[in-house]
Amino acid sequence: MCPHCLATGTTVLGDELHIICHCPATKVVLEKFTDKFQHLTRLLDLFPFASFTPDQMTRLVLGNPPAPVLNKNLKGWITEATPICGEFAYALCMHVRTLHPVTVELSSDDSDDAALSSDSNDDFSPILLLPGFKPASVPPPGNMLVPLDPAGKQMIGQHILFKWPKHGWCFGKILSWNSNPNRMVCKQIVDFTVFYPDHSSSGPHCLSLDNYNIDADNDSPNHTWLLIELSNP
Ligand SMILES: [Zn+2]
Repeated sequence: MCPHCLATGTTVLGDELHIICHCPATKVVLEKFTDKFQHLTRLLDLFPFASFTPDQMTRLVLGNPPAPVLNKNLKGWITEATPICGEFAYALCMHVRTLHPVTVELSSDDSDDAALSSDSNDDFSPILLLPGFKPASVPPPGNMLVPLDPAGKQMIGQHILFKWPKHGWCFGKILSWNSNPNRMVCKQIVDFTVFYPDHSSSGPHCLSLDNYNIDADNDSPNHTWLLIELSNP
């Protein structure tokens, strides 16, 4: 049974095809993004997005390149598709969140066992992750998070979740690395500027291992963060 429309005959966890293409409660998100994906397929010289089967659409919008891309233009795919797929996944995640105030686990990677164990542990609830994303398996190396250490440039383009006091967990992308020792926030030297597509805004950050949310715990304090990555690279 689908938790959003209560349709029977669908798997609750991880039925991305239903949630993205068929569910009356959630397919509106893809409808809003159809023009963007249509543009993307035209740009990359693929079959028109509208001609894809729901199964193919689901794979594409979650960031999996269609077969013709693998042969000729994977780099173009990564550059053009990754931001749109990330934006879509985030919009879907936010939409689902408006339907259900309680955290819904959308990741297909988690077995029923994981869902059960989180139910039985009242102290821990996992962060609602965007479909297609998962927490990075390890935090970034410490030197990449030391302000002014040029190793930090390798963090540019990475996706993060940051917990804001008012907005809760926000999906962001590391936009730039700071080289100015006078740029401070909360008495610390800024290491990165992070862009938040949902709010169309960006801001300076001091991302460090001290405020890294290693457990991906939804209830962790404000101003913690974690690195996330595509689960289907
Ligand atoms: Zn449904």
